[in-house]
Amino acid sequence: MFRPAKRIEDLGVSEILAITARANELRRAGRPVIILGAGEPDFDTPDHIKEAAIAAIGRGETKYTALDGSPELKRAIRDKFQRENGLEFGADEVTAAAGAKQILYNAMMASLNDGDEVIVPTPCWTSYFDIIRIAGGVPVPVACDDSTGFRLTAEALEAAITPKTRWLMLNSPSNPTGSAYHEADYRKLIDVLHRHPQVWLMVDDMYEHIVYDGFRFVTPAALDVAIRDRCLTVNGVSKAYAMTGWRLGYAGGPAGLIAAMAVVQSQSTSCPSSVTQAAAIAALDGPQGFLADRAASFAARRNLVVEGLNAIDGITCRTPEGAFYTFASCEGLLGCVTPQGARLDSDRDFCAWLLEVADVAVVPGACFGLPGYFRISYATSQAELSQALARIAKACGMLQ
Ligand code: PLP
Repeated sequence: MFRPAKRIEDLGVSEILAITARANELRRAGRPVIILGAGEPDFDTPDHIKEAAIAAIGRGETKYTALDGSPELKRAIRDKFQRENGLEFGADEVTAAAGAKQILYNAMMASLNDGDEVIVPTPCWTSYFDIIRIAGGVPVPVACDDSTGFRLTAEALEAAITPKTRWLMLNSPSNPTGSAYHEADYRKLIDVLHRHPQVWLMVDDMYEHIVYDGFRFVTPAALDVAIRDRCLTVNGVSKAYAMTGWRLGYAGGPAGLIAAMAVVQSQSTSCPSSVTQAAAIAALDGPQGFLADRAASFAARRNLVVEGLNAIDGITCRTPEGAFYTFASCEGLLGCVTPQGARLDSDRDFCAWLLEVADVAVVPGACFGLPGYFRISYATSQAELSQALARIAKACGMLQ
C-alpha cells in the first residue's frame, strides 16, 4: 500500500475543490447549480495579451528561458513595481515563477527550517498553511474578526511573535474577506516588526488592482526602507489580467532571498513557460485602463451581493474594500432546523445544506480558518448573482 511522506500525510486537497466537485456532480444530474466558489475572474484575458503570446510562438520563443524569468520580463516587472508601487528593484531583486503560489512555495522552501514559525492572520487563503507545513514550518494563526475588519492589529502581532518567528504573512485585499490594509494599519504593524528584526514580512498583493470606492492601495515595502530590506512583495497576473490559467507570478525582495528562491525553482519547475512570459510582458507593459473598468464592474456586483446578504435574517456581511469575495456571518442561523428536519450546527452544515436545497455552492468560513462564516466569490454575472441571492433568501426563510 502507498504510504505518503510524513510532510504531506496530514494534508489533503482543498475542500473548495471537493465542494466544486459535488456542485458539478449535481449539475450533471440536471440540477441548475450556481457555483460561487471559484477564485478567478469571469472576464477573458485581453486580446493584446493573447496576441503577444501568439507572436512569441511565431518568433520561435518556445525554448527554456533564464531560470526565474527572461531579462525582458524582469525589466517589465521592475518597471511595474516602480510605476505602480514606487519600489525600485535591481535585476537581481525580482523573480518570476509559475504563479504567485509557486513564488510563496519557493520563498517558504528557501527560508524555513523545521519548526520555524510563520504568523498568518486568519481568515486567510487556504494554501498558506499547507505551503508552510510542506516547507517544515509551523503556521501560527492569529484570529482576526469582524471587529477589526478582519485585519491584524499591532497588539495581536506583538503577542504572536516568539524567538522562532521567521515570517509574518499578509494579504491585502484579502482572499477570503476582501478586507484591505490602509497605510496607517501597515505603519502600526511595521512599528512592531522594527522591534523584532528576525521577522520577515511577506505581502501578497494579488488583488492590488481590484479595489473599490477610491481605496488607496499601498504596499509595505514602499512605506519603510528598513522593512523593504526584509520584505517579499508578491504579485501576479492571474487576477488583475484574468490570466489564471497562464501561470505567472512574480515578486520583488532582497537579492539573497531571491537567489535562494531560484535554487528551489531550479530543481522543481525551472523557468515559467516562455510563451506565458511574453504574455505577461504585454500585460505589465500594455494599456492598464481596462483594470479600472473591470474593478467598477466588480464593485457593482459587490454592492448587489452585500445588500442582498444583509437583507436576509440571520446573515450579516461587511462591505469589503477589494478582491471579489464577500465573507458573511451565518452565525445567526446556526442551531436552526431545516424543513427536512436537520439541525444546522456549523457553517459547513449551512453550506452543504444550501448546495443540496438551494443549488448554490458557497465555501464555509472554516476552510479559511474562521467558522461561522461563508465566502461568496462574486466573479460571475449579476443575473446569476441575483438568482443565487434569491435562492439563499428563500432557503433561509424556511429555517426554523
Ligand atoms: N494569493 C492569493 C491571496 C490568492 O487568492 C491566489 C489565488 O487564488 C493566489 C495567491 C495564487 O495566484 P496564482 O494564480 O498566481 O498562483
